[in-house]
Amino acid sequence: MENIRFSALEISIQRKRKPVAFPEGKASEYFGELTFNSSAMKEYLTAESFRQVINSIEKGERIDRKTADQVAAGMKAWALAKGATNYTHWFFPLTGLTAEKHDSFLDPVEGGKAIENFSGNQLSQHEPDASSFPSGGMRSTFEARGYTAWDPTSPAFIIDNTLCIPTLFVSYTGEALDYKTPLLKSLAAIDKAAVDVCRYFDAGVTKVNATLGWEQEYFLVDSALYAARPDLVLTGRTLFGNAAAKDQQLEDHYLGAIPQRVIAFMQELEIEAHRLGIPVKTRHNEVAPNQYECAPVFEEANLSVDHNQLIMHLMENIAKRHDFTVLFHEKPYSGVNGSGKHNNWSLATNTKENLLSPGKTPEKNQRFLTFLVNIMKAVHDHADLIRSIIATPGNDHRLGANEAPPAIISVFLGSHLSAMIEMIEKSNKKIAPASQKGKANLFKNLPRIPEILVDETDRNRTSPFAFTGNKFEFRAVGSSQTCAPAMIVLNLILASQLQKFKEEVDEHIRNKVRKEDAIFNVLRKYIQESKNILFEGNNYSKEWVEEAAKRKLSNFTSTPKAVKAMVSRKTIKLFEENKILTGRELKARHEIHLEDYTKKLQIESRVLGDLATNHIIPGAIKYLNILCECVQRLSEVLDRRTFSKVSANQVETITEISEHIAKVKSMVSEMLEARKAANKIGNSEDKAFAYCEKVLPWFDKIRYHTNKLELLIDDEIWTLPKYRELLFVR
Ligand code: ADP
Ligand code: MG
Repeated sequence: MENIRFSALEISIQRKRKPVAFPEGKASEYFGELTFNSSAMKEYLTAESFRQVINSIEKGERIDRKTADQVAAGMKAWALAKGATNYTHWFFPLTGLTAEKHDSFLDPVEGGKAIENFSGNQLSQHEPDASSFPSGGMRSTFEARGYTAWDPTSPAFIIDNTLCIPTLFVSYTGEALDYKTPLLKSLAAIDKAAVDVCRYFDAGVTKVNATLGWEQEYFLVDSALYAARPDLVLTGRTLFGNAAAKDQQLEDHYLGAIPQRVIAFMQELEIEAHRLGIPVKTRHNEVAPNQYECAPVFEEANLSVDHNQLIMHLMENIAKRHDFTVLFHEKPYSGVNGSGKHNNWSLATNTKENLLSPGKTPEKNQRFLTFLVNIMKAVHDHADLIRSIIATPGNDHRLGANEAPPAIISVFLGSHLSAMIEMIEKSNKKIAPASQKGKANLFKNLPRIPEILVDETDRNRTSPFAFTGNKFEFRAVGSSQTCAPAMIVLNLILASQLQKFKEEVDEHIRNKVRKEDAIFNVLRKYIQESKNILFEGNNYSKEWVEEAAKRKLSNFTSTPKAVKAMVSRKTIKLFEENKILTGRELKARHEIHLEDYTKKLQIESRVLGDLATNHIIPGAIKYLNILCECVQRLSEVLDRRTFSKVSANQVETITEISEHIAKVKSMVSEMLEARKAANKIGNSEDKAFAYCEKVLPWFDKIRYHTNKLELLIDDEIWTLPKYRELLFVR
């Protein structure tokens, strides 16, 4: 029987770069051609229905039945002209993945004929059988109806001849069963709250959009090698494997020349993304071998979240055409960097300004500081909630592992802004009533903020939440996660914070304090209350962990601990007051999160046990037999003195291998017992804790011994592709 690892290696070594079919024309000419964007709408809709759709996108106005019918007719005509045969509502259930159920446009009519049909009703609402999606107990199977409802703010697009319509997904009783519903609500909340505050500075602001620019990190691995690693196939990460002699220590991969096979994949990905209107802009090698990144130009947050989901789907499909498999797992390999998804987040006004861009005028300067300090305060007050939404089993391996921000949430501002914040904090000027001439405008004491604040030298790449010149970069999101939870939470906490800010400032103004001074005063108070969230040093260091503990900042090192904040009283109040999710919906999400955690660990533990037992131990025994036979033969041909001199080495190896085998065997059964005990627990939180504390610790212990075996056993007998192959063959 052949060694599966060698067959896989042979296939992968012989792979060549696949030719890329470039479309005719420049990218700008085919950009967005597969989306029902506003130019397509203009062409296919009546002026009146076009206006209604635009109003719905910009002002959140409802689209009436008649218009929905007209939009459906236009969309159908457009889709058929592009060769589409089917349509689907594309939605985002709480699995964190996307879901779709395709229907054909075709409807039979009299005379054995058929027509293409698509009504306003079919566009606006659909009822997929939803019983198999997680609902956290909100829906029993007998009332499993779930509805999808059209989201006109994210344009429909065509993939594989199927018209995909981005939609919300809610239960029969109206509860949100997806990420899009609360996301859209949080975007409406931040719009209103930010506009209200902007009006202190500029009456022309009537609309504020949250913006998101994500950076998607991922690994590529040759598909043949991938297929020979059941742990990668079933869990997305390697549960075994000794570090390669060379990995990232030479720092020769980051921003290095992109390998030929990989560039072919990237080119095809970009073409497809551009045709779908995803403004992909940047591609480069990442830190670890075979790790890469892709990033677009930022967009309105809802669209950007959809585009990230869509591109992950494209990446998986297109990689297959190039015989690669994409790994989105946060930590597919131990010992080298894992993958994250930086969420660059800011706020843009209808007046085409970025609220996190330091301004040129005193008013803009004040507005910038207002938003900056409110964000700082919001993150300070809701740090635990922010931590909770990035808690996944994959991210648990990454956060705090000296390659990604730690589990402690802090804010980085850079030296210039930090100094400014300190000046405001220390300024002890009293606020004077507006009637007292000459005493006003505390802002005057502050130096102007230079336009370009932060250059590369002032970038802290270790902070989970860093100001980077004109946006915040939330760096702790995991690479496999959707951006939606991060966006929901950031928008919501800031919306709620801005509402409080406005109340306080208005209260001062009612008490005859000049507006500028009222704002200054409230900001100063916020800085005093929240300054312990600021940290400019190395977030990866041990000193920071100690310092953070002194500051009483939370440091939740595992998912079960971190997700408690998803259902704390404070969180429920925040979500309910802003009508984003009810306590019941939050509890359901918490439940789903814990179940997901437990199931993933359960799968990993099973795969680990199976592979240790039927891949690794049998290989080890095979080699053990060879060694024993060798010793036996030697004893036959050599005299006793020579034999005992030369066989010592082999005997030592035999002992070592036997000991490791015995350890692996006994540990696998102990892990199994721990799993059995955990499985008996009914309460999902207790069960997740049992998996975290009683089952998971066995993984590394077992791995220690299997890694030793990998080093001892004849390379030709070892059946699992090794790190040096997974990470370097391309
Ligand atoms: P890096 O963090 O790798 O140095 P860049 O500075 O090039 O990256 O920007 C990273 C991302 O930030 C890009 O996806 C970009 O679109 C996004 N970005 C830039 N400005 C904004 C903004 N105003 N709002 C949201 N995202 C933004
Ligand atoms: Mg970045």
